[in-house]
Amino acid sequence: MSKSPRIAVIGAGLGGATAAALMAQNNMNVRVYEQAPSFSRLGAGIHVGPNAMKVMRRIGIEDVMNQQGSHPDFWYSRHWETGDILAKIPLGNFAVKEYGASYLTVHRGDFHELLMRALPPSAVAFGKELVKLEDRGDVVDLNFSDGTTEQADIVVGADGVNSRVREKLLGPEPPKYAGYLAHRAVFPTPQVKAGMLGFDACVKWWSEDQHMMTYFVSGKQDEIYYVTGVPAVEWDLNDRWLASSREEMREVFRGWHPTVQALVENTREVTKWSLLERDPLPLWSEGRMVLLGDACHPMKPHMAQGACMAIEDAAMLVRCLQEVGAEDHTLAFDLYEANRATRASRVQKVSHDNTWLRTQEDPAWCLGYDVFNVPLVEPALQ
Ligand code: FAD
Repeated sequence: MSKSPRIAVIGAGLGGATAAALMAQNNMNVRVYEQAPSFSRLGAGIHVGPNAMKVMRRIGIEDVMNQQGSHPDFWYSRHWETGDILAKIPLGNFAVKEYGASYLTVHRGDFHELLMRALPPSAVAFGKELVKLEDRGDVVDLNFSDGTTEQADIVVGADGVNSRVREKLLGPEPPKYAGYLAHRAVFPTPQVKAGMLGFDACVKWWSEDQHMMTYFVSGKQDEIYYVTGVPAVEWDLNDRWLASSREEMREVFRGWHPTVQALVENTREVTKWSLLERDPLPLWSEGRMVLLGDACHPMKPHMAQGACMAIEDAAMLVRCLQEVGAEDHTLAFDLYEANRATRASRVQKVSHDNTWLRTQEDPAWCLGYDVFNVPLVEPALQ
């Protein structure tokens, strides 16, 4: 039997799956426990920045992602009513040259499936909802809702915004509702008609207090996605999402540019999601337990970087475990936090403010980051 520390990753979302894939690749003794019995192709798109694509390169799925995804040449910001260009941020070949990898927009389900396929099947256990964990000093006991138990030497909480592992570290506290919701819909790209602009490969339409981001989710550009940010005072936190409707979209985007109206009119199914956040956490690890991704720093999605941060976290955690040896988890966790907290908090703040690329700015600090080659900073002395 392997003597290397047993690592339990809780949650096989984009962050947990990335961590497990990199750990398995580096012969670490990893197993990921996911509460869902299986994954389905959720109706949503996702931006994958060059900062995250460098991690996909390491995992070995960069080429196939590049083949599947859409490669916008620019991120446009446009005025909600007139369509005037507020910002035109170069991506495409410029991103490859300047930031070291593609800027992609893809179907989230397709991306997640590729990532899951990069994992050895024996490293994933579905239908395993963690309900209790106890760090006993020399080992962590894990209890699942199906009555089974496991033990691990290291536990990585990649279990999202309502993380059990975070709760164990810091006590029960619901995330904060940000006062905004996001409508999400994927459907066949409509025809362009008179009075409309052609569909930009990646564009955010901005009014003073709400927006609609749209992009293609495949290289063929035959499927388009929109995701909104719309103020809504009330939301029952028991619901993560609810069904919406074309009628509701008509109401909310009344008077917007004809190109936006065309998207509303061609909507088939649309859901609306509560946007949740937390303030930066006072600690990222304790004992044998450590957090990553939304478990640690959930944010409004307005930089399209939440999953990219989870992916960067995963890669940095694996780098730190390798750097000092997985046996010295305390030092590895301190090194990890020292090299992630400032950046994750900065992205959380910009996402909260919803200012990203609204006007012409240089995104290099975010998109150019290379988690494998950035010089490491030492943890502060306690
Ligand atoms: P999650 O994706 O939440 O995964 C957590 C996993 O843990 C899930 O599979 C869950 O089933 C499992 N789990 C939870 N509890 C347990 C338990 N007790 N036991 C076992 N398993 C458990 N990010 C981007 O980078 N680009 C974008 O374009 C983008 N767009 C977004 C649009 C919207 C509307 C929203 C809401 C978010 C968007 N994000 C985007 C953010 C992104 O979705 C999240 O930041 C990202 O999914 C976080 O990944 P994660 O792996 O940390 O958590």
